[in-house]
Amino acid sequence: MSSIPQASLDLSIVIPAYNEAESLPELIEWISRVLSAYNWKYEIIVIDDGSEDQTAQVLHTLKKQYPALRAIRFLRNYGKSAALQSGFEAARGAVVITMDADLQDDPEEIPALYRMIRQEGYDLVSGWKYKRYDPLSKTLPSKLFNAVTRKLSGIPLHDFNCGLKAYRFEVVKSIEVYGEMHRYLPVIAKWAGFKRIGEKKVKHHPRRYGKTKFGIERFLFGFLDLLSIQFVSRFRKRPMHFFGGLGVLSFTIGAFITLWLIVYKLWALAHGLPYREVSEQPLFYLALTSIIIGFQLFLTGFLGEMVVSTVPKRHDYIIAETID
Ligand code: UDP
Ligand code: MG
Repeated sequence: MSSIPQASLDLSIVIPAYNEAESLPELIEWISRVLSAYNWKYEIIVIDDGSEDQTAQVLHTLKKQYPALRAIRFLRNYGKSAALQSGFEAARGAVVITMDADLQDDPEEIPALYRMIRQEGYDLVSGWKYKRYDPLSKTLPSKLFNAVTRKLSGIPLHDFNCGLKAYRFEVVKSIEVYGEMHRYLPVIAKWAGFKRIGEKKVKHHPRRYGKTKFGIERFLFGFLDLLSIQFVSRFRKRPMHFFGGLGVLSFTIGAFITLWLIVYKLWALAHGLPYREVSEQPLFYLALTSIIIGFQLFLTGFLGEMVVSTVPKRHDYIIAETID
């Protein structure tokens, strides 16, 4: 934690945007209007996630009108997680609030979220779209998805994937979002040690312009991501405990079977009992594979340890342009 810089502003709004040219002017205007009632020093960071529409031009135009606006343009579409990660790295506010660019999240929620972090001492506050304006094909699987995540993570949130969230500065500077892990930011934060996680019911709107960027496959991938997150957060820094543990188990089973085969053979020979050659007994092959697999798991553990000790960062996306 000692290497974390100091926040120099009160608030950063981080907005990932992929083909949201129509929504952005209205959104930036709305946010600025809401925030004009407060004397917080703030910035709005839009990450243009490799949009193919007019998003980049729109951002250049908006920058002239709104000095608090900053933009990061990706060379291609890297996904929402990469966009958020980049925004987190750029953010300078003591409170960092993320929201979607499509006007589905309501900027009127910003002040209350801000206060929950600054005054009520939360590390992270997640929005809860308790009245959702999305098709049933999205809301139904989402319910299941949230229930599974609640169970596995032990975090009592209703809406893990809500784009509207507020974070303490230290949180966004300590966590890393990659792949499609943006759905599990509260889980990642909790594993990093930020336990004061709150929830706020937020207003939600139907999408007015453009279309959704995520299809039904999000739920399968999302579930696989949850498994890897549980795995990675436990064993990322100590792969040997996972692979070595399994390796020992497998090896021990193999060793015991081998021992049994030997004892049985000697006993049978001594008593003149009918006896099949060791290599003709199924148990022999079980012992053999168990020992080999055990060894391989061990070696995987060592490799894992070597990888962990040499790979500094996981993401490798390229920023084409920054507007400051
Ligand atoms: N988004 C992004 N990169 C992507 C896909 C989406 O930055 O590859 C942004 C998108 O522009 C929006 C937010 O992530 O601001 C949420 O996307 P969307 O509204 O499509 O998701 P939904 O509301 O359907 O869950
Ligand atoms: Mg949306």
